[in-house]
Amino acid sequence: MLLELNDVSLELKRDGKYVRILDQISFQVNKGETVGIVGESGCGKSMTALSIMKLLPEKAKLSGSVKFNNDEVTKFSRREMEKVRGNKMSMIFQDPLTSLNPLHTVGRQIEETLVLHTKLTKEQRRERVIQLLKEVGLPRAEELAMEFPHQLSGGMRQRIMIAIAMACNPSLLVCDEPTTALDVTVQAQILELMNHLKKVNDMGIIMITHDLGVVAEVCDRVVVMYAGKIIEEADVKELFLNPKHPYTKGLLESIPKLGVRKEKLGSIPGMVPSPDKMPAGCRFYERCSSAMDICKGAVPPIQSVGENHATACWLYDGKRGEQNGTTGSKGLKTALHH
Ligand code: SF4
Repeated sequence: MLLELNDVSLELKRDGKYVRILDQISFQVNKGETVGIVGESGCGKSMTALSIMKLLPEKAKLSGSVKFNNDEVTKFSRREMEKVRGNKMSMIFQDPLTSLNPLHTVGRQIEETLVLHTKLTKEQRRERVIQLLKEVGLPRAEELAMEFPHQLSGGMRQRIMIAIAMACNPSLLVCDEPTTALDVTVQAQILELMNHLKKVNDMGIIMITHDLGVVAEVCDRVVVMYAGKIIEEADVKELFLNPKHPYTKGLLESIPKLGVRKEKLGSIPGMVPSPDKMPAGCRFYERCSSAMDICKGAVPPIQSVGENHATACWLYDGKRGEQNGTTGSKGLKTALHH
């Protein structure tokens, strides 16, 4: 197991009081596996990534367990975390322009990571920079290393970010909407590059996205989040063919399908509840067309609904619906793996 989250909750201070942004998040990532985290904005996807990387505001309250290579990340000191971040685990953000320093050449920015985490000599670092630029598919690597971010296209800049993230051969790469700012053709090339790098380096990848097309392209497994909770988890094919949770079904209905003519694509009415006004029962209650009385007051337990497939919805409670295997509220990981 490369990464294991168990009952991770996060509280942030807003307007003088703490609000719960993540609620008992549990999932795992194996070596050589890409796990997608999907959901609308504000569902907690990015906060989950920042919790794993421990890139949280000073007053944030993080609880539960985040194990990376069997080490408890939540107990790491700032210095220990700095050694791991950018080295064993790296992160790529949506907008490379804001992540890159406009005043330094791209070669120097890749080299900085090597200075920080390796004992390579100046000459070895130079060679590694050129090798990385070639690995991420950039042309004329020697010249390019001397150029500045503004001289490159959006796709090239994102390749530079990937080169920086890959500089120390991380075992985990966390990507937060890495292709959202790119046009479709460049997006496809970047996703292909990430698939290639994952295979070559046997890395685990967390792919945070609101785009189910990206999920279908690169993910092995998918975690669906809603209002700070995981509400469904399944292998990618299973999720697309056999979604269970009404929210996941709504998400899938909102994307166009090849060969299927539809007058209008589906959309989910209503808004995600705000973290300081979470409903007592199912958080999707106000927007759910299948809602029942029980959903209003009781949080649905997470239960197995098939092989490697679990969801949190009262429709699948053993006493009420189609289903099997109620596992109480032990968490999605337990539901999936026991
Ligand atoms: Fe809808 Fe109830 Fe399932 Fe929530 S628990 S998604 S309200 S059916």
